[in-house]
Amino acid sequence: MEDENSMFLMEEALEMILVFNEEGVVSYANAAARKKLGYEEEPGSGSGLAGRDVGEVFPNAFPWGGVPGDYTLGGAQRNLVAYRRNRTCFPVEAKVVESLRRPGTYVCMANDILEKEHLGREIGQVREEAQQAAKVKAEFVANVTHELRTPVNGVLGHVRELIGEEKDEPKLRTLRVIERCCDDMNKLINNILDFSKLEAGKFVLEERKFHVRDMLDYVKANHISKITEKGLEFFMTVSPKVPEYVIGDELRIAQVLNNLLSNALKFTTVGKITVQVLKTAQVNDRVELFFLVIDSGIGIDAQDQDKLFQSFSQVDASISRKYGGTGLGLNICKQLVELMGGSIGVESEKDRGSAFSFSIWAGLCEEAGEIPDRIDETAAFSVWEEEESQEAVKIYGTPENKEALSKNLSKLVLCVEMSNWEKAEMFMETIRQLSEGAPREVARVVLRLKMAVQKENYDKAAAGFEELQSFLSV
Ligand code: ADP
Repeated sequence: MEDENSMFLMEEALEMILVFNEEGVVSYANAAARKKLGYEEEPGSGSGLAGRDVGEVFPNAFPWGGVPGDYTLGGAQRNLVAYRRNRTCFPVEAKVVESLRRPGTYVCMANDILEKEHLGREIGQVREEAQQAAKVKAEFVANVTHELRTPVNGVLGHVRELIGEEKDEPKLRTLRVIERCCDDMNKLINNILDFSKLEAGKFVLEERKFHVRDMLDYVKANHISKITEKGLEFFMTVSPKVPEYVIGDELRIAQVLNNLLSNALKFTTVGKITVQVLKTAQVNDRVELFFLVIDSGIGIDAQDQDKLFQSFSQVDASISRKYGGTGLGLNICKQLVELMGGSIGVESEKDRGSAFSFSIWAGLCEEAGEIPDRIDETAAFSVWEEEESQEAVKIYGTPENKEALSKNLSKLVLCVEMSNWEKAEMFMETIRQLSEGAPREVARVVLRLKMAVQKENYDKAAAGFEELQSFLSV
């Protein structure tokens, strides 16, 4: 039974197998050997090669004509030349072993090297083609999404201009819907752009010194009006251990926080949203920062929590219908956080709320200085306390607004000088928000500047700053 099995396996093996005795006389050649060596259809030969001399197949390796010799090739795998019946030849990798049960019986196993190389080359070619196709696809997605931004922002700019002029309430409502649609479209485009860059492994993080508190203020400013609009409470606490300055990618950390905060806001109708920032570890000159975003919203079922960080994953279709979104946000967050050496997770209870947390590693710099005590973990502050100064900043023309505008304008100039267009867009957006309600000529300059930044046009951006600066210094 065992013999039958071994015979079957030998016969079906992909490599060539020859069995011969100590005089080199072949007793068996498997199907692959018969086929490759051209003995398949030898009339009346039974198994083709049987009875022939193994030296006929490997004349350079084995003795001819029934001469006993060392048929084991020293026990190692060797490169030999195999001769077909028609005396053409091809290289093989071969190994010969002597049967343990029947000493004096040898088994030679051989692989066609050319065939293997050919296969290897084919695999290599297929792999290269697949990589090329993936690259073309990623580039196409990146180009198309980048190009999509221009018309969307064109519409957005004009709609905002019209909003500034329109007095008729129903028309204003329509214009605001268009504005919101454009904003959503921009978010979508940015997500697809990030996703395709991350997938293509083309994502490069920045390592630059930044002020942690300023970054958190920027994140808060992005959401404050919506939080107020929804009547939610908001608390942000930063542990005094968190350094004032760290080295890392400010924009990407802000992006993850923004994403978690927008989700918290999207899925919470009553109660509060809390953001906490802690320093959880330090190794030499690197610190681990830990961010928590807690909401009292709709929560997520335990069985759905694992799916959240996969791409295109939403808890269920009804959620996407009701709240919108592509299911890309958390996957992008996960990839970004992992690039920054950290991890992201969630704890949530259905109908009670969710707590998303993530950690990242950042570098320490000389003036790291911890964040002053005024914001410690216990003394939480809420938007209500800050509302007054916040409001003043938002009103175009107030001293607070002017100061914030010129601060952001100088940051924008710096980014443009350093060709950091992505960060420049971030400051541009703040400038745009700060100049809402500005006179028409100022709004026009802001729009031109925004277009220039988006198109990464240095000359036009430089002209835009000067114009805006001249308005601010009046
Ligand atoms: P999207 O871009 O569609 O918002 P995300 O990846 O950010 O995608 O989120 C995926 C899904 O995770 C959401 O559609 C929602 O079902 C769920 N989710 C995310 N954050 C929260 C939250 N704070 N509360 C409840 N559900 C959430």
